[in-house]
Amino acid sequence: LTDKLSRLVKNLSGQARITESNVTDMLREVRMALLEADVALPVVRDFIARVKDKALGQEVIGSLKPGQALVGIVNKELAATMGQGVSDINLAVQPPAVILMAGLQGAGKTTTTAKLAKHLIEKRKKKVLTVSGDVYRPAAIEQLKTVTAQAGAEWFPSSADQKPIDIARAAIDYARKHHFDVLLVDTAGRLAIDEALMAEIKALHAELKPVETLFVVDAMQGQDAANTARAFGDALPLTGIVLTKLDGDSRGGAALSVRQITGVPIKFAGTSEKIDGLEVFDAERHAGRVLGMGDIVALVEQVTAGVDIEAAQKLAAKVKSGGGFDLNDFLAQIQQMKQMGGLSSLMDKLPSQLTAKAGAMDMGKVEKDIGRKQGIIHSMTPQERKKPELIKATRKRRIAAGAGVQVQDVNRMLKEFEQMQDMMKKMSGGGMMKMMKRMGA
Ligand code: GDP
Ligand code: MG
Repeated sequence: LTDKLSRLVKNLSGQARITESNVTDMLREVRMALLEADVALPVVRDFIARVKDKALGQEVIGSLKPGQALVGIVNKELAATMGQGVSDINLAVQPPAVILMAGLQGAGKTTTTAKLAKHLIEKRKKKVLTVSGDVYRPAAIEQLKTVTAQAGAEWFPSSADQKPIDIARAAIDYARKHHFDVLLVDTAGRLAIDEALMAEIKALHAELKPVETLFVVDAMQGQDAANTARAFGDALPLTGIVLTKLDGDSRGGAALSVRQITGVPIKFAGTSEKIDGLEVFDAERHAGRVLGMGDIVALVEQVTAGVDIEAAQKLAAKVKSGGGFDLNDFLAQIQQMKQMGGLSSLMDKLPSQLTAKAGAMDMGKVEKDIGRKQGIIHSMTPQERKKPELIKATRKRRIAAGAGVQVQDVNRMLKEFEQMQDMMKKMSGGGMMKMMKRMGA
């Protein structure tokens, strides 16, 4: 979070109990972080009030520091708000179990219909039929046909000249006759909340009596997700939410808003355009993402203890401005990691989507030969550090001799540097740089 928050956390370390005033200060920062993650304002207010209630007067136990305890409370409450545990699709009815998909146009209903079909076939061993009620866009019916085939499910034909309600009746008839376990009903998109279309999906709901009515919502929709969720929640007895496009770089604050507003669990998360890009929603993991990082406090403390914030900020700015990541930066990184008590321990504290990317690097090894790498870089000329591409065979031999290592060690270091450079490029848009900036800003 912000430098202010990290200072507050640090200042709290000596105290044994969380007091009203330090809670207020810290919660102001948490509030900012949530708003920045696009959580709707009324939802943020409610949330902060609940956390404040829980935090005040709470005894801080054992070795935990008050700052950590408070952030722990925030994290726990975030996860609880977004739903605890996991909840799969409910199929406890006389087959065919009907699942109705609702949501705005482009939210990902058709894609998710096919993903769910695949999930139900593979994980639940069900016989699945899909049908499209999107009679306004013939292309949408074709789209469902295509993705249904990818899922290995059966598709029930429908066409633009039919009424959605007739399609629904025919499909459910067919599903019954042919002993399908599940019928997934994709519906027409709405660009915005539209009375006629709302009436239509309500009628579909009344006819189909679905066991699951899933509200599909785009995580990138940010603040708007709250209004959409309210409209759909008022029109339909929703049973669950699918939050799509979590592979984008939004912080996913929409999860908090839609969960709170509809009161129904977020069952799945869409994580890619592909047919297998569906995950069971994990509220705890998502809480870390909404706040912007994993174990914030531990990270903040490690960072404030060992790292030159200014250097980190400079690096973030440089990479962001397209300035590139050279061996000088690599050296600075290596030295910072040493101060922070090891790369692997730092990596444990980053949000999981970042560690997944970093996972390509072997942390243990990076840590072990930090000293050797420093030596190698020290044996380079300033020009070589700025332009590593200059380092060809002759220079490598000279550098290796200077550092007292083998040429292959120089090669290995350069390779790791390239990996790091690559990672920096990938993260420069969001993730790590944002986090560093937030901590430093
Ligand atoms: P619908 O109008 O609600 O049926 O939305 P679609 O299923 O047609 O999806 C709209 C667009 O979003 C398509 O380009 C999909 O490929 C894309 N999409 C859907 N879900 C995801 C997701 O989880 N991640 C990503 N990256 N794209 C998605
Ligand atoms: Mg569609």
